Amino acid sequence: MTPLPPAPGQGPATVALVATTAEVLAHPELDERLLAPWERRRLAGIRVPGRRDDVVAARLLLRLCASRVTGLPPDAVEPAQRCPGCGRDGHGRPYLPDHPELGVSYSHADGLAAAAVGPGPVGIDVEPLTRRPGPLAVLRRVLPEDEVDAARAGPDPGPALLRLWVRREALFKAGFEAGRDDVRLTAWTDHRRAAVVALAGADGAPAPLLSSGPAPPSGR
Ligand SMILES: [Zn+2]
Repeated sequence: MTPLPPAPGQGPATVALVATTAEVLAHPELDERLLAPWERRRLAGIRVPGRRDDVVAARLLLRLCASRVTGLPPDAVEPAQRCPGCGRDGHGRPYLPDHPELGVSYSHADGLAAAAVGPGPVGIDVEPLTRRPGPLAVLRRVLPEDEVDAARAGPDPGPALLRLWVRREALFKAGFEAGRDDVRLTAWTDHRRAAVVALAGADGAPAPLLSSGPAPPSGR
């Protein structure tokens, strides 16, 4: 797989990848051994094997995105994490110490992984299409109330609320407040993987939204 060339005169574009955990773990460029010792130590604390695989997949997918943006091979990508709450390393917001100009985000959920790397802050979230966020009291607290009410009044409230939730998560991960209108926020349904995905970024350029399999993202 060849990295995407940067768009002329614009620097790198955002690369976002969505895949099933199984697809990532079977990817020829990716291997759990790419993970750093501190990441593997954290994995040791995850008791549920499926969840462990999801975390591995998301962290590997992040390396693949960074590889495509920077042109470096995935094993030369060294992400770090720092917590904005306690200031400690090893958890919290991911970043690339060697590429402070690039934003980094990843997400995982039952059998799914997503990652994004691009200029400026980025946030990505993936959830299974069948997930129903809730309870309503929580949704009302973290989502714009009018949008929650509109989604509930619509013909398909479950998917509509899930879409709102995923968008909010992507914004939150990018570090944006809800309601900002200068943020590019794209949400789509990956039907082949039964996933809902949202990508938030501030790069202002059209972001190529790539699935790592043959099926392009569909819907909005
Ligand atoms: Zn912390």
